[in-house]
Amino acid sequence: MITRHFGIPVTSPGAILRRERDLGTPLGLETAEVLQSGGLVSDKIIIELIEDWLRLHGGHGFVFDGFPRTLPQAESLMSMLTKLRTALDVAIWLEVSEETVRDRITGRLQCAECGFTTSASSAQFANRPVCPYCDGRLERRNDDDLGVLQTRLQEFHTKTEPLGNFYKKLSILHRVDGNRDRDVVFADISRLIEDKTAK
Ligand SMILES: [Zn+2]
Repeated sequence: MITRHFGIPVTSPGAILRRERDLGTPLGLETAEVLQSGGLVSDKIIIELIEDWLRLHGGHGFVFDGFPRTLPQAESLMSMLTKLRTALDVAIWLEVSEETVRDRITGRLQCAECGFTTSASSAQFANRPVCPYCDGRLERRNDDDLGVLQTRLQEFHTKTEPLGNFYKKLSILHRVDGNRDRDVVFADISRLIEDKTAK
């Protein structure tokens, strides 16, 4: 949505890793296994991938979604940006309750063949649960994913929460309530980005 609206390239470690997996690179295949079992990919790998991406696409602004997630990642990003002679304009902290996360996971459909995920409430797929990319069957994967959720929540509390302070000290932190409708959240985020790009 952000790319369409602002013409700013957006990436996430997940998107980069999916691409690596689809290309069948050794790194892509290895990390796919880790992610499947709910683990986190090491900081070192994530940082390398982000640095490559920045060099290729980050020349005229960029948005990271789900990065950095740990203090070492945040610190590496700082030094990458210093090297590129740029800085972060804004850090958006999307606050989402555990309940919201659980609702969204149980309302998710995933393609049994290629792993494409979508929301079960998406009108397009409600009647005909077939993957738009490979015609695979879209199914719910509640139990697995809720187990993975516990691991992720742990990781979040120990590794990600400290980032709030890190960016607060840099005076670029904005908290956005992510429990509301997608469009309302997007409007808030858009306003923050607009403020920065208008300068
Ligand atoms: Zn598929």
